[in-house]
Amino acid sequence: MSHNIVLLPGDGIGAEVIYAAKDVLEAISKKYNRTFRFSSYDIGGVAIDQHGTPLPDETVEACKQADAVLLGAVGGPKWDNNPSDLRPERGLLGIRKALDLYANLRPVKGFPKLLHASPLKEEIIQGSDLLIVRELTGGLYFGQPSERIDNGNAVVDTLSYTKKEMERIIDKAFQSATLRNNHLTSVDKANVLESSKLWREIVEAKKAEYPDVTVDHVLVDAAAMKLITNPTQFDVIVTENMFGDILSDEASVLTGSLGMLPSASLAEDGVGLYEPAHGSAPDIAGQGIANPIAMILSSAMMLRYSFDMNQEADAIEVAVESVLNQNYHTADLKNEQGALVNTSEMTDLIVKAINR
Ligand code: ATP
Ligand code: MG
Repeated sequence: MSHNIVLLPGDGIGAEVIYAAKDVLEAISKKYNRTFRFSSYDIGGVAIDQHGTPLPDETVEACKQADAVLLGAVGGPKWDNNPSDLRPERGLLGIRKALDLYANLRPVKGFPKLLHASPLKEEIIQGSDLLIVRELTGGLYFGQPSERIDNGNAVVDTLSYTKKEMERIIDKAFQSATLRNNHLTSVDKANVLESSKLWREIVEAKKAEYPDVTVDHVLVDAAAMKLITNPTQFDVIVTENMFGDILSDEASVLTGSLGMLPSASLAEDGVGLYEPAHGSAPDIAGQGIANPIAMILSSAMMLRYSFDMNQEADAIEVAVESVLNQNYHTADLKNEQGALVNTSEMTDLIVKAINR
């Protein structure tokens, strides 16, 4: 059985790191006798230049037909002054919508060799390894009405969710917990919000389907504090859209560099999209020095969540950690000792570690 992977390199370092992930996947395919077929399509600024739109129809069609999508990053100063429908970011929002991606999974891991790169105390972040599961399609971002009222003297935003939207993300989080350490923390504001009261009821009801999973409820304000005072108490965190947006940026501080953070966005039965949490990094684009690890770890998530290849995903993660443990680092991972390497050198080291 072959797996059809669509690559959307995009702009800036997106196009540099995506080929690093492809090299790593090719090493996995040889070692584990798996067949991956790759094809590349345009999105973002390059698509504006080539096709006059940030999201060409052929890109959407190819993604819908794919088994999984890997995306680099979009955007750059060249298109910053474009009108809003010709902005690279429109391509990203458009593809998320076209694929109906409702679950955003962000693992955050404090790698032992990178503890010094975080502004937080090493003894606090040591051993931190958690997964944030964020709802992506509902809540304050999309609730109607959202407008100025009363002649501009008042405003309204609406936090709205259907029960079905809550159930599917909560179920995904329970499933994710079973793939890790069977510990789920549900984050809400149930002391104030009606939406959070329903959320909590659904989490409680779901427990029956996942008897091995231990569940805690934490209020979002307390969760924000605990994330940076005692992050090791968390394994999987599940929360609604806005809380997840804020907490996942906060949690990224644990890792030391944006260049280390992968993400997955999943649909109900359809195709998953995997991308690094970082952007196109115009300041270092074209220099070949970007850290490819966020993109490479995103491809490991693809193997785990879209293809059920847990052994192969583990092999990538173990390889990344072993290269870091040998003190190799890219420029973003300030490290006085050890060897500074560029994008392709880091990629080759990870490929070699996989082949060992
Ligand atoms: P976007 O709006 O597209 O999310 P951003 O403003 O969040 O972009 P990034 O493009 O993510 O910004 O870059 C933020 C900073 O982090 C830049 O200085 C960039 O060089 C650095 N950076 C981001 N990703 C990497 C990476 N993979 N390797 C090295 N440095 C990176
Ligand atoms: Mg950003």
